[in-house]
Amino acid sequence: QNTKKISIVGSGLIGQNWSMIFAGAGYNVCLFDVDPAQLERAKSNISSTLQRYEKDGLMRGTGTAVEQSTRVSTSTSLEECLRSTFYVQECVPENLELKTKVFAQIDNVIGDDVIVASSSSCLVASSFTEKCNHRDHMLVAHPINPPYFIPLVEMVPAPWTKPEVMATTRTLMEEIGQSPVSLKRECPGFALNRLQYACINEAWNMYQSGLLSAEDIDKVCYDGLGPRYAFIGPLETMHLNADGIVDYCKRYAEGAVDVQNKTFKPIPTLYDVPTAEKIQAEYNTTIPLDKIQNKRQWRDNRLAALAKLKKEM
Ligand code: NAD
Repeated sequence: QNTKKISIVGSGLIGQNWSMIFAGAGYNVCLFDVDPAQLERAKSNISSTLQRYEKDGLMRGTGTAVEQSTRVSTSTSLEECLRSTFYVQECVPENLELKTKVFAQIDNVIGDDVIVASSSSCLVASSFTEKCNHRDHMLVAHPINPPYFIPLVEMVPAPWTKPEVMATTRTLMEEIGQSPVSLKRECPGFALNRLQYACINEAWNMYQSGLLSAEDIDKVCYDGLGPRYAFIGPLETMHLNADGIVDYCKRYAEGAVDVQNKTFKPIPTLYDVPTAEKIQAEYNTTIPLDKIQNKRQWRDNRLAALAKLKKEM
């Protein structure tokens, strides 16, 4: 077991996931939250979730579920949570004032070598670390839900984040079994959402023009692009679909650009509610609003099975 200490600030959904991931990799984890009752719930959730994953053969890392759970402690004092730590993962709600306040509090307590990463989904590190003394040790490390089963972490530096801090965090993420990517600079939407928005935009436009049903658009992804993208990305797809990507461009770029120039619509200015209502009416038979929770559980179970399969390959 690794005796180094990791601090997690905020014990909601994402804080609990990071705790389980770090504990699985053998780290001692200390979890802090401003809400003591939430901290209790988090501790018991972590313990029951790990036991469920162990029973289902989905648990990551070393040791039993009970051993991994005992690596996670909680504290109602931020100072105690941060004492002797070397890495802090912030997981408080996505709110600029709150993140600014919490980073200032962490900044006041930590030493010069500690790395502080935010789980922020949208806010960039420069917006809430500018005034911190240790801002060159601060960055965004954005996980994807559910992080226990989707390994990607988008690492995004502020202009003042030291390259060594990015490098150390990347190594740490790899060591704990996550899959980090390093953006060279801040960029709205980071990388995953930028790709996801492009996909949603065309899905929206195809639906709106009556080209195919919502169910069939989803199927194009989960039975078409999705299985491929679970193993190779869009650029590698180009490389493999011809004799290399240069050959692909020579053979197919004209056609691809033509389709887009002649038939792609502009980005939808709004995902308009009337269209959303029509799509929802379609989902009313398959995923009515009162079944969304069940479907989320179904999704997470399948993501867990896929993660296990990919590990075994
Ligand atoms: P959450 O609401 O489940 O948990 C947030 C926790 O922070 C709560 O337990 C709350 O009590 C605690 N908190 C509030 N103020 C605090 C403070 N001052 N100090 C310490 N703790 C405090 O939120 P979440 O879904 O876990 O999201 C946390 C972060 O992770 C956000 O930035 C979010 O954008 C990001 N994120 C979320 C997801 C997701 O799908 N939920 C995915 C990736 C990243």
